[in-house]
Amino acid sequence: MNLCVLGAQWGDEGKGKIVDLLTPHFAIVARYQGGHNAGHTVYAGGTKVVLHLIPSGILHPGVTCIIGNGVVVDPHALFTELDQLAALGVAVDGRLLVSDKAHLILPYHRELDVLAEARRAERPIGTTSRGIGPAYEDKIARRGIRVGDLADPSSDGPLAHAVRENVAARNHLVGGTALQWEPVLNDLRGVWPRLQPLVADTSSYLYDAIAHGRAVMFEGAQGTLLDIDHGTYPFVTSSNATAGGAATGLGIGPRAIHAVLGVAKAYTTRVGGGPLPTELSGAIGERLRETGQEYGASTGRPRRCGWFDAVAVRYAVRVNGLDALAITKLDVLDGLEELPVAIGYRCGTALLEDMPGDTLQLARCEPVYETLPGWTQPTAGVTTYAQLPREARAYIKRLEELCGVPAAIISTGSDRTHTIVRDGSLVDRLGAVARA
Ligand code: GDP
Repeated sequence: MNLCVLGAQWGDEGKGKIVDLLTPHFAIVARYQGGHNAGHTVYAGGTKVVLHLIPSGILHPGVTCIIGNGVVVDPHALFTELDQLAALGVAVDGRLLVSDKAHLILPYHRELDVLAEARRAERPIGTTSRGIGPAYEDKIARRGIRVGDLADPSSDGPLAHAVRENVAARNHLVGGTALQWEPVLNDLRGVWPRLQPLVADTSSYLYDAIAHGRAVMFEGAQGTLLDIDHGTYPFVTSSNATAGGAATGLGIGPRAIHAVLGVAKAYTTRVGGGPLPTELSGAIGERLRETGQEYGASTGRPRRCGWFDAVAVRYAVRVNGLDALAITKLDVLDGLEELPVAIGYRCGTALLEDMPGDTLQLARCEPVYETLPGWTQPTAGVTTYAQLPREARAYIKRLEELCGVPAAIISTGSDRTHTIVRDGSLVDRLGAVARA
């Protein structure tokens, strides 16, 4: 079974742990969008490893990892991660493939990112300023440079031509300074020898692998509400984090995706600007942030925290065709007396059950809460559903009803073992296939 695992909220849902947990069931892990703005925290042999670009599947011997055409690649960031893996003694040889069609983040894309964010002044998006947005802009403007273009470094070849075009576009945007194109071309020439052995037609590789029955996990970065099309535009990332992005971002047919698992926290967080209907500003928000350690893995920025928003997750169920949820960080709610859950939005006189498409309208919405009782007995580290306090089971059951899909996984701690896999669920069946 090929499974797509993605974020069902605003990113940082704990996908890293879930992907890491499921990796032993797959031969291949493939990333389909985003850049090194994603940050997955995993623990390998007691050491904390934060991977931004390379799928964490690389930490599992024998698993092949793919960086698909939908990802934007900063070669220097990639090399830094390869060095980090080498220092940990992780052998990557032959197990990491980068699509020849993936677009490159060029040295000045970061500078453009910072400038664009400064121009937004009062309405910043809260980007990570790593050049990801500008690299996608160049891709869509059809002047981007792809990994495969590096194969011909000649001064009159298509690469040199594209670099000249790209630098001219940058100089047009940035007043007061003029960048020379030659150093950019030289930098790209310099990265090719190390990049080249990793480069492949990854669409064709996946096609053959799937035809031979090798199981693939498609790994999304960020989350549904940050999707360029289906998120809270313009406070979004520059790519399709939703399930459709797996098909376009890897060059696979949609029927190659057999099931979709959405990862959602038992509450809600968001980094950066944009509406967050259930946001808590007072002591409870602070309590969630501290207990959940809600600080960005990539940037260290404090995350905005709020109650579980069933409207948002129900929306994620729809736009991704989710089969099931993995609900993470249930333990963070331990000890709270009451747990309000947003079941709808009040917007002026209207009551909405669905996510409005208009972000300004969403910003004016007030959540309509249903309040569930909390629990006193801790859930931290619990590994079976039956051991959860009665109120925690009722909470999960209500989230399942409100979102319309079952919770296949409930996570009760950052450790791999602090996990409940529900009997007969999608994830339980994956295990059964692997055990057979
Ligand atoms: P990702 O980008 O979606 O993988 O999310 P992050 O890596 O930014 O955040 C996940 C953080 O939460 C990591 O530090 C995990 O170790 C931690 N985490 C994951 N699941 C749980 C859980 O069930 N309980 C607790 N307390 N922490 C968790």
